[in-house]
Amino acid sequence: MGELFLVPSPIGNLKEVSPRVMEVLSAIDLVACEDTRNTSKLLALLGISKKCISCHVHNESFESEKIIELLLNGKKIAYLSDAGYPCISDPGSILVKKAIENNIKITPLSGPNAFLNALIASGIDTSHFLFYGFLDSKESKRENELDKLKEFPYTLIFYEAPHRINDTLKSMLKVLGNRKITIARELTKLHEEFIRSDLLTLINENRNFIGELVIVVEKYEKEDIKDLDEYVTKVKELVKSNYKLKEAVSIVSLLFSVNKNKLYKEAIEKIED
Ligand code: SAM
Repeated sequence: MGELFLVPSPIGNLKEVSPRVMEVLSAIDLVACEDTRNTSKLLALLGISKKCISCHVHNESFESEKIIELLLNGKKIAYLSDAGYPCISDPGSILVKKAIENNIKITPLSGPNAFLNALIASGIDTSHFLFYGFLDSKESKRENELDKLKEFPYTLIFYEAPHRINDTLKSMLKVLGNRKITIARELTKLHEEFIRSDLLTLINENRNFIGELVIVVEKYEKEDIKDLDEYVTKVKELVKSNYKLKEAVSIVSLLFSVNKNKLYKEAIEKIED
C-alpha cells in the first residue's frame, strides 16, 4: 500500500521549507500538485528532481482517481498546492476523501500557512476563531455571508485579493459594524506588514493595498443595553436639533461604533417614552 503525504509549500520565504519536507520530497516516488510549473520550480530551487502530475481545482475529481490508483499500487506520493497547506482555500480535499475511502495512509506535514501567521501576530483574541477563507466577490452574496457571521462570538479570519479588499472592508463595516481589524500583508516576505486598525479608519484612509493579504476581525461583542443609554441621549440631542431619528441613529452609530439596529430599537422606545 502506498502513502499520501500532504506537504505545505512556502507562502513567500523559501527558508520555511523544513528538513522533514526535504526528506519526504526526496524519498517519494511522485509529486501531485496544483500547478506543475510552480511546483517544478520549487523542486528545482530545492535541488530535488521528481515527476510532477497535475491535480487542481478544475480536474481534481478526475485526476484524484488516477492518483488513488497509483497509491493503491504502492506508490508514495506527495501532494502540494501553490502556497501554504493543501486543502486550505486550495485543492486537495477531494483527494484526501478518496484516500480515506480507500484506506490509504495519509501523512500531513507541518509548515507555512497564511492565516495562522496573521492570527498570532494580529493582537486580536486567539483563544477561539473561525477561519472563513475567501468571501464571495459579488457584493450581495458577500454581504449575505457576512450577515451569517455577524453575531459569531469569536475572531473571524478571511483571505482576500488586493483589488477587492476595499470593497470587502466596506461590506464588513456595513454588516458587522465598526470593529478592530488587522490586515497581514506579504507574510514571510521582505515587505511583511501588519496594519492594526479598525474598519472605519481604514476605509477613510482609502489605502492602495498591494500583495497578498489576510484580514483578521475582532469578535462580535454583545452590547450592554445599559451602555446604550448614553448613546440614546446623543441621538435625542440630534433629534432636538432637527435631525430625523434615522439620521441621528446613523450618525451616532458611526461615530461611536455602536450597532445601528440595536441603537435604533432602543432610541425609538426611549424617545417615545
Ligand atoms: N493554502 C494557503 C494557506 O495555507 O494559507 C492559502 C492559499 S489561498 C489560494 C491564497 C490566499 O492566501 C491569498 O489570496 C492570501 O489571502 C493568503 N496568502 C497566501 N500567502 C500569503 C502571504 N504571504 N501573505 C498574506 N496572505 C497570504
